[in-house]
Amino acid sequence: MIKPLTNLPNYGTKTDEITIYAGPCSVESEEQFFEVAECIADLGLSWIRGGAFKPRTSPYSFQGLRAEGLELLAHARSQTGQPIVTELMNSEHIPLFEETGVDMIQIGARNMQNFRLLKALGQLRKPILLKRGLANTIEEFLMSAEYIMAGGNENVILCERGIRTFETMVRNTLDISAIPLLKQQSHLPVIIDPSHAAGIAWMVNPLAKAAIAAGADGLMIEVHNDPKNALCDGAQSLTPAQFDELMQDVKRRAAFEGKRMAR
Ligand code: PEP
Ligand code: MN
Repeated sequence: MIKPLTNLPNYGTKTDEITIYAGPCSVESEEQFFEVAECIADLGLSWIRGGAFKPRTSPYSFQGLRAEGLELLAHARSQTGQPIVTELMNSEHIPLFEETGVDMIQIGARNMQNFRLLKALGQLRKPILLKRGLANTIEEFLMSAEYIMAGGNENVILCERGIRTFETMVRNTLDISAIPLLKQQSHLPVIIDPSHAAGIAWMVNPLAKAAIAAGADGLMIEVHNDPKNALCDGAQSLTPAQFDELMQDVKRRAAFEGKRMAR
């Protein structure tokens, strides 16, 4: 039997609410993470994100603080009262994620078709934020969600984060049509990550607004207290002030769509 997730705030399941998942690409230090987490909590938004285990293209890049990063996430959770979402890269870490009290597990684009991992997630009852693979079709994306749900975990949130195309001026191409398609093909919440789609901070705002207009249930946004010196994805990260501005814009767009911001 599926246990209802009564202790969690909305994660995109209410059709009249926009859920925001915000925070740095990776948890880098106590100072960095708390500064960002406090800004998000002060805005009254529900979810804080931050990577502890990072899938990086180069093995020489910062790979995340790993277990120490999870501890910082748990600490921020207890200080701010905001639930946390963080990326899981392999099933061996599930017990660690359970112990830490991670509220929602993110499966990154690169693991969207890691079927062994997806099957393991089907045994859990935590919500899973599943990101679309860099070169995966909508059908493949939905099939990956099915892998999780077939195991009995129906708490899946779909996240479109841009796909690889021939275009080189953006990091990825945001597939806006994924929103109506996924909503027509499934009952699952659909959120958009304009940060990884654009790869450029100034483009996050227009893409976020387009996502709301196209019917997205939420947004995942990267925010950093010092983007220039970020250890990961600084170019696409908003400062807390830019994020605050974006949230004002999103709130207005949400109202236009007859929706309010989830808290
Ligand atoms: C992330 O959210 O930091 C991330 C690595 O995203 P993606 O898996 O979409 O590249
Ligand atoms: Mn990132």
